[in-house]
Amino acid sequence: MENLKSNSISENFGKNLFSDEVMKERLPKDVYRKLKKTIEDGTELDRSIADVVANAMKNWALEHGATHFTHWFQPLTGITAEKHDSFISGVESDGHAILHFSGKELIKGEADASSFPSGGLRATFEARGYTTWDCTSPAFLREDAIGVTLCIPTAFCSYTGEALDKKTPLLRSMEAINEQGLRFLRLFGNTTSKRVIPQVGPEQEYFLVDKAKYLKRKDLIYTGRTLFGAMPPKGQEMDDHYYGSILERIGSFMNEVNIELWKLGVTATTQHNEAAPAQHELAPIYTQVNLAVDQNQIVMDTLKKVANRHNMKCLLHEKPFKGVNGSGKHVNWSLSTDDGINLMSQGDSPEENIRFLLVLACMLSAVDKHADLLRYSAADVGNDQRLGGYEAPPAIISVYIGQQLEDVLEHLTETGNAGTLANKGERLHTSVKTLPDFEMDTADRNRTSPFAFTGNKFEFRMVGSSDSTSSPNVILNTIMAEALADACDRLEQAKNKEEFDLMVHDLIKELLQKHKRIVFNGNGYSPEWVEEAARRGLPNISCMVDAVPALTSDKAVELFGRFNVLTKKELESRAEVEYETYAKAVNIEAKAMLDIAGKDLIPAVMKYIGDLSATVEHMHGVMKLLGEPEDFSDKAEVKRLRDCVSLLNEMQDALEKLEIIRAEVRSIEDLRERAVQMHAKVVPAMDALRAPADKLEMIVDRSYWPMPSYGDLMFEV
Ligand code: ADP
Ligand code: MG
Repeated sequence: MENLKSNSISENFGKNLFSDEVMKERLPKDVYRKLKKTIEDGTELDRSIADVVANAMKNWALEHGATHFTHWFQPLTGITAEKHDSFISGVESDGHAILHFSGKELIKGEADASSFPSGGLRATFEARGYTTWDCTSPAFLREDAIGVTLCIPTAFCSYTGEALDKKTPLLRSMEAINEQGLRFLRLFGNTTSKRVIPQVGPEQEYFLVDKAKYLKRKDLIYTGRTLFGAMPPKGQEMDDHYYGSILERIGSFMNEVNIELWKLGVTATTQHNEAAPAQHELAPIYTQVNLAVDQNQIVMDTLKKVANRHNMKCLLHEKPFKGVNGSGKHVNWSLSTDDGINLMSQGDSPEENIRFLLVLACMLSAVDKHADLLRYSAADVGNDQRLGGYEAPPAIISVYIGQQLEDVLEHLTETGNAGTLANKGERLHTSVKTLPDFEMDTADRNRTSPFAFTGNKFEFRMVGSSDSTSSPNVILNTIMAEALADACDRLEQAKNKEEFDLMVHDLIKELLQKHKRIVFNGNGYSPEWVEEAARRGLPNISCMVDAVPALTSDKAVELFGRFNVLTKKELESRAEVEYETYAKAVNIEAKAMLDIAGKDLIPAVMKYIGDLSATVEHMHGVMKLLGEPEDFSDKAEVKRLRDCVSLLNEMQDALEKLEIIRAEVRSIEDLRERAVQMHAKVVPAMDALRAPADKLEMIVDRSYWPMPSYGDLMFEV
């Protein structure tokens, strides 16, 4: 296969990364040590080393053919941003270009970037925004049609230090969980660990469609999803795509994606066909959260670029096709120490297992207390189409912990004391009388839970496929920091080991008792669960506009303030950006529908009707000639004509209504109100326009229909 590239892992892996190995080789020893200390221990960066690092980075980049550098950052749009500058800083008297890259250019960029959403954090007259080097995420060389570009991961802040991006709060939340995690570990006698770091492995789902067909779908071009489209005769019911053998065209795409990702140090590992036709998944091996978030951005970008090179388009939208599985991004999350202790794993000793149970209890309390925030973190415009759909996790947050853990929980909260569970096999030994030993259930068999404990990590399945993974991780880190801090506040009161053990035990029981309502091991898709969840008082937040208020509640302001993750002002700005984004996105979708219906679909239907009428008229003439009775009402042509005309009228009415409602809602000044009304009024008006159009697609002659069908898009890749 000449179009397949050599995908030797060892040849490619990390090749385009300014990695530890490269730094060690190219930096003076003391500079390397200082930088390494900042990267590993989270100490402040010594600015005096910046020039040396910048120079080494420049030389390395130039040797690899780089022409430009860019600060690479993550504004509140949820995607990444960059502005390239070449290494040319002037011209020598002999005519040669002077190539330069200073420490100042490495550390700080004055991005201006005043057009990014800031939710009122930046008035335009002080539109200055700064990007600052995040040395904990390695710089990398991106190769594409532009050439080779040195990308420097950066945070993006306002002149006054407010976070304008998705990275800054993430780094702050890592500090919070580190501090509280260490405090917690010390209480349990750990003296060796130096850092507690969240570990994250995001599984990325996506669709691939043929580029030429994509280009005939204005809805995909403008909004990333189909706004019209009747179901094809076949969907995913045969399960023949899921884990199926991978088509050559897709395989050659995956081959190139892997190579590109490996070069950038992304451990692209798992690849397979997903449930829906044309749907696939890619998962890397988990890594520390800030890298995982950066790398997921690189993954999304790479999927799109490489697909384009293969004459395909990668759809990252959460619900590109109505009635077919959508795409998510399972965020696998755990906590571990720099010396390799996973706090979410059962241990070898009874002490470790008690600690494990307390961590688990803390997690349940955190999720229960802040279910609204977690739900918010998975809210994006596209996910509104997916959450609660038949294939997607429901919009209610609950935690799956497996039967054995549930038994322990039941036991503890009901009888309140000893007893050994009747399970056989490997047991979790706690050696505390009142805590039963139990068998660990590591296999997760519940695919309907939005938040599942899967043996040594939690899997948050609600997150949308196109969304940045920053928000969910900021929330997870911060709510867990709070739960651990609260536990420490209590346990630090213990006067001796005996009292401590007793307090730990009481605390586990208390937390489980208080928060067991969040545990649900049953079928999350069943209607009974919706009722049961309501009885338990769990929030059921079905849409983005209802999810955003959680961000600015007193509870949230208190939480994020306590751990210095986001100020009230920063929270409010984010809420504003969410409303604005939602309103804009729905407005675009509505306008795209009007455009397509008005200029493509309705004219096509009219043409078909015109031709049908001519046929009917012709029939009429023939019948007359033959002297036959003139009743055509049960003739196919007439039936079709009648159906088409009636649906066409329905479409035209719906189109006019949609335009009126859209314009009315668009003019609402208040951003939140505008978003709320977009959801309440414009979305139903869009549905009303889609319904007759999809019916017409099933009647109108295929050759008249102006765009590729669902079948064309999903089955002819
Ligand atoms: P699946 O969910 O398909 O069964 P796995 O559970 O093996 O697959 O892994 C899914 C993702 O979870 C991968 O990205 C993997 O690296 C990640 N993962 C595995 N262990 C952990 C952990 N302790 N913490 C965070 N992520 C993890
Ligand atoms: Mg998984």
